[in-house]
Amino acid sequence: MIAEFDHPTFRLAVAQFDQVAEAMNLDTNLRERLKTPQRSLVVALPIRMDDGTVRVFHGYRVQHDSARGPSKGGLRYHQDVTLGEVAALAMWMTWKTALAGLPYGGAKGGITVDPHALSLAELERLTRRYAAEVFPLIGPDKDIPATDIGTTPQVMAWLMDTYSQQVGFSVPGAVTGKPLAIGGSLGREEATGRGVVDFTIEALRHKGISLEDTSVVIQGFGNVGSHTARIFSEAGARVVGVSDVAGGLFNPKGLPIDEIFQQHRLGRPLQDMKAGDHVTNDELLTLDCTVLIPAALSEQITEKNAGRLRCRILTEAANGPTTLEADAILDDRDVFIIPDILANSGGVIVSYFEWVQDVQRFFWQERDIRQRLQELITTAFQRTLCFAEEKKTTMRIAALMNGIDRVAQAHTARGLYP
Ligand code: GLU
Repeated sequence: MIAEFDHPTFRLAVAQFDQVAEAMNLDTNLRERLKTPQRSLVVALPIRMDDGTVRVFHGYRVQHDSARGPSKGGLRYHQDVTLGEVAALAMWMTWKTALAGLPYGGAKGGITVDPHALSLAELERLTRRYAAEVFPLIGPDKDIPATDIGTTPQVMAWLMDTYSQQVGFSVPGAVTGKPLAIGGSLGREEATGRGVVDFTIEALRHKGISLEDTSVVIQGFGNVGSHTARIFSEAGARVVGVSDVAGGLFNPKGLPIDEIFQQHRLGRPLQDMKAGDHVTNDELLTLDCTVLIPAALSEQITEKNAGRLRCRILTEAANGPTTLEADAILDDRDVFIIPDILANSGGVIVSYFEWVQDVQRFFWQERDIRQRLQELITTAFQRTLCFAEEKKTTMRIAALMNGIDRVAQAHTARGLYP
């Protein structure tokens, strides 16, 4: 690994890759190629702040691989974003799109910024400057950004507009996760959460557990966590614990998710609500439940807390929430893991639907989206499960093997240029 990418999350992504490459006996030439991102761009973003001063932010776009099609992946705004973290997330996108059977490679972008500390006007200037700087790399046939932590449909609208201004005409397919008014897709905003629920339902069915007997704990109440909570409670499961950055709420009888969802949208932190007992984020992870869903940042489940988790199923809505050491502990304890590249793929699947609709200028009904999403989820889950059972391995290794194998096949077919 070259020093530029060194970061705990990138080390985790590479360690997973090494483990799986060894298990599947991957061609050694390909191993080296797939370990390093294909292309990375670091940009300085000078922004005029509302008080008249100029601040320079830093942004990244990493394209890990494009053997199977244009690279695809979100844009993250967070104060801890680094090149190495973005590179890890880009690598996971490559395996994720391949596993879901989408005609894409993997990419990710980010800006090191706390978006909540900026005014809306500052956020717009920052986004537009970023779009202008990464312009040579992105486009509907090259690399298609989307929402991720800290970015919203409005941010995607500014990205799409800046891109379109540069080429001189509207290019809705350059970005996904956009508002409906400019070529966004029905169902995209809730897609990751809906996918998380659908994948978990597949796992519950496999384990013979009914939804009525299921209790759910969710870490993170952003786009993914909040929609997961809402859809799970609509489906009839008991959501007993939820949290945001500041801490969480717990009620073994079930939380009033509808009310919490509405209040949180209005900006009220979970800690201010009285619907349950207050718990810290650490305590939340070890609550007794059927399904635990980390839906926040990476490396939350480590060797320190893995032995204390009390769930039967772990659905990884976040990217990279479990360290390699924790993974081994959970495997020993027989926790059924739906790995991130499978569990949170609903987002990029509906992004793919959005891009197809944009490119074809032909828009679908919400029921078409849900039905097609459900079909892809069932296929991906069953294929991964069959593979895991056949090879007597974990769901994570099976998912990674499937994804990596598809990428390897594309590289082998295309050969090495020049
Ligand atoms: N940011 C999401 C992810 O990590 C979605 C990416 C996309 O839709 O392109 O999968």
